[in-house]
Amino acid sequence: MNPFSVQTLLTEADVENLRFDAQARYIAGGTNLVDLMKHQIETPVSLVDLSEWEEASDIVKTGNGFRIGAMVTNSALANFAYQEPSLSMLSQALLSGATVQLRNRATTGGNLLQRTRCYYFYDTAKPCNKREPGTGCSAFTGMNRIHAIFGTSEQCIATHPSDMAVALIALNASVSVKTAEGKTRDVALREFYCMPGETPDREHVLKQGDLVTSVFIPAKTRGTQHYHKVRDRASYAFALVSVAAGLELSGETIRSVSLSFGGVGTIPWHPQKALDVLEGSDFSVSLLEKAIDAELADAKTFGSNDFKPGLLRRVFLSVMLSLAQRQKAQHGHEGALYENH
Ligand code: SF4
Repeated sequence: MNPFSVQTLLTEADVENLRFDAQARYIAGGTNLVDLMKHQIETPVSLVDLSEWEEASDIVKTGNGFRIGAMVTNSALANFAYQEPSLSMLSQALLSGATVQLRNRATTGGNLLQRTRCYYFYDTAKPCNKREPGTGCSAFTGMNRIHAIFGTSEQCIATHPSDMAVALIALNASVSVKTAEGKTRDVALREFYCMPGETPDREHVLKQGDLVTSVFIPAKTRGTQHYHKVRDRASYAFALVSVAAGLELSGETIRSVSLSFGGVGTIPWHPQKALDVLEGSDFSVSLLEKAIDAELADAKTFGSNDFKPGLLRRVFLSVMLSLAQRQKAQHGHEGALYENH
């Protein structure tokens, strides 16, 4: 590991006084950055330690939603969301990620900014456009079982690894940012991440020195919710495919639907084409098939991940049908609603 200096941030106002050069990085729980430094993938010459930034460790329930401080741990957020029916998919997503020990260290801001787990990104002996722009992408012709089918480019096909971000995209969250100049701005999470395009090393819209201060989730009735994650091991594994969904029916009509996919996109995937088919329509198996097929029309596979479109289709259908069954059960209807699945 290279030598580095450390500054400490105690309050949000300290941002304006930092010596934040091009090689500096914020460090919160350190559950990803320390690994990246050990592997010499990131070699910051200075770190800004956020661990004593107490004002960012609260969750506040406001009149119109929930404000989650950037330093709230994944464990604390999962426990809070577990008790809020309108955030149940967030709790399920968090509890499906990593291990208890990691969730106790990892923070809300850090989780959003974690980097891909592409094998070749971590193997410094192999070309990787994200780690070293212009060197090539080893995953294109190598093992790409865990790689993306949406939002890929010829430069990079790596997935974003966060489960939490997938649920937050479905919940229409936004991120509050304090700039190095002391200004504040809010960014919708759906516009926060950058697809690789020609610049796979640029993963989000933050500029050097920008500090994520909190995440806001608007209060909204979203009916029944579920986060379903399919992975190679029962725990401590990243998603091959995941679906975050909320569904509210009024009779047979879809009154509201929230949806996001993980493990399949170069960014946490907001499936707008599927949502366009679903919103306001009458719920049926054929409608679900039409919706997922509309989204999958843009999917591109690379060999080892050829199974992902079919898997995503099945997981999506299963999650949506089970949500509809639960809605029906909650409203006192008897028997299976959609037994033809
Ligand atoms: Fe690097 Fe992206 Fe290719 Fe993986 S998929 S080797 S991260 S360029």
